[in-house]
Amino acid sequence: MKKILSGIAIAQLLTIQLQAAENKNFNYHVDEFADIEVLRYEVPAFNDLSLRQKMLTYYLTRAGEAGRDIIWDQNGKYNLPLRTVLEYIYTNPDLDRNSKDFKAFEKYIKQVWFGNGVYHHYSNDKFSPEFSREFFESQYDLIPSSALPSIEGMSAPEVKEILMKVVFDPEFMPKKVSQDSSTDVVLASSGNLYEGVTQKEVEDYYNALKDPNDATPISYGLNSRLVKKDGKIQEEVYHLNGLYGPAIAKIIYWLDMAKGVAENDAQKDYITKLIDYYVTGDLRLFDEYSILWSEDTNSDVDFVNGFIESYNDPLGMTGSWESYVNFKNREASARTEAISGNAQWFEDHSPVNPAFRKPEVKGVSAKVITASYLAGDAFPSTAIGINLPNANWIRAAHGSKSVTLENITEAYALASIGNGFNEEFVIDQPTIDIMDKYLYITDMLHTDLHECLGHASGRLNPGVDQDALKEHGATLEEARADLFALYYLPDAKLLELGVLDNPDAYKAEYYKYMLNGLMTQLNRIEPGKDVEEAHMRNRQLIAKWVLEKGKKDKVMELVKKNGKTYVKINDYKKMRSLIGDLLAEIQRIKSEGDYEAGNALVQKYAVKIDPKLHKEVLERYAKLNIPPYRGFINPVYNLVKDDKGEVIDVTLDYTESYPEQMLRLSRDNSNL
Ligand code: ZN
Repeated sequence: MKKILSGIAIAQLLTIQLQAAENKNFNYHVDEFADIEVLRYEVPAFNDLSLRQKMLTYYLTRAGEAGRDIIWDQNGKYNLPLRTVLEYIYTNPDLDRNSKDFKAFEKYIKQVWFGNGVYHHYSNDKFSPEFSREFFESQYDLIPSSALPSIEGMSAPEVKEILMKVVFDPEFMPKKVSQDSSTDVVLASSGNLYEGVTQKEVEDYYNALKDPNDATPISYGLNSRLVKKDGKIQEEVYHLNGLYGPAIAKIIYWLDMAKGVAENDAQKDYITKLIDYYVTGDLRLFDEYSILWSEDTNSDVDFVNGFIESYNDPLGMTGSWESYVNFKNREASARTEAISGNAQWFEDHSPVNPAFRKPEVKGVSAKVITASYLAGDAFPSTAIGINLPNANWIRAAHGSKSVTLENITEAYALASIGNGFNEEFVIDQPTIDIMDKYLYITDMLHTDLHECLGHASGRLNPGVDQDALKEHGATLEEARADLFALYYLPDAKLLELGVLDNPDAYKAEYYKYMLNGLMTQLNRIEPGKDVEEAHMRNRQLIAKWVLEKGKKDKVMELVKKNGKTYVKINDYKKMRSLIGDLLAEIQRIKSEGDYEAGNALVQKYAVKIDPKLHKEVLERYAKLNIPPYRGFINPVYNLVKDDKGEVIDVTLDYTESYPEQMLRLSRDNSNL
């Protein structure tokens, strides 16, 4: 599971961080187009790593690069051939780069790079080109046949026709992931995880494989595409000799190099297991790897590389390929260790039915990391916190590893200074003041609590299927983790642990959370559309539920001031108790697998938008000129060698532009 940045959550900073930023002279801004801003992040303290750790990092970044094509293909079956065409056109030296068509084309290709395909990474909608068909077609026809992409079973004119359709026909394969429960979500989703099968066929197929009495259930469907061929349903498994084999071969090569410079035997063991899994596609091996990985808390350099998060699957089963490479930030980890070290205390005091609590919280390890590479589904748009493995039984029996990506959070924050957000949306100066002072730290703590305690808390009743909440599983799981974090932010325990120094600090996060859930996150949605993405649904669910349940006591209101709508919180203490009530209910829903109740909550609070308020938010946001989405390019890792060709150092370069990085990745890593 992952936690993503909530809107422009962190608009403000502690004074000390501001000063650090001013002294730093690091340029975070890289590019801006459509609704996106591309930033770069710094990898502080990379030079403090040993040469061996730097080499390990380097090999892992190469393993990350090698899988890039996989996520492109998972995101849509025409993405890779289209990318070839788009990049050929983009690099044509004879093009008039000042023409209106080219400018529109450049915007489009930058969007496609950002989405790892033709769909928006967040809304899942297909991008709309603003250049003419004539421009595209005339450029397409200039591509020599040797450089044209091929698609199995199609002639060159057929390939051109289908790619034109992908780009220009808004009705054709319109949405990567559809969560519209009134339709067959598998058929309504245009991602490349299923072909020719209905939702019912998928559910029947996997239900037949599942053994309800298995205490260590396999995550069926995690690493495969389900297709119907000649009337028969079959799984195309991602592995060395299966689907995505050529890219997986490269990943294995670099993982093997990494294994040679692993920090210790435990790390070597889990890399070996991961390689075995990539070779065979055997999900039991993936579970064994996950256990070894979650138990290694000694290595400084760490990574994720595989089919992990299932947000791109409307049924929440197939993992999108991703990679993170990172190393531990020892200083900042003291904070998360204080929290995770008390995991049992938090579990025992949680406001849920004691029957749904974990009697014994297993190895919740939490650390703050410095991200050193992002790839696959984690690039360019990335999470700010991750908690893995995802398999519930492993989390229960062996624990999980939770990380906060501090340098990414910091880059977001430093790039947001002075953008005018608080002045526009926050109700009054005292609230702005408390956010200025405490939002950065409470936001960090919210991430820590969400990842290392929230997702790790609670248990399922015996026999409850972990997929019982079906298409609402992700939304309700994120709500559960957020509620757990929100519930504990005001707790005196955090003062006692020394991670907060003011009992009112939590109000900064409460205000931001409710403002975001009720209003500002709507900036990410086009007029007339519903809320679809799981994290956004979860935030709206919580904020609207609290608004409604707190109505009679006036806990929170939407008020008008000078014709503008503001969130007004009157009773923070009562708000906390409502948050506890909702946490108890959502934990019950999860523990009992009560799909009906979960569906009712989501439908009532999480999906629909008041069009008037939506319009107002969009207009107020537009004046601020803040792109609603941001992501990152990576630094470039270079090997430094002596005269004998021996590697003596690894250095980082931060000068690459966004198009340069994307074109280099395609040039060096077109593995499928
Ligand atoms: Zn989460």
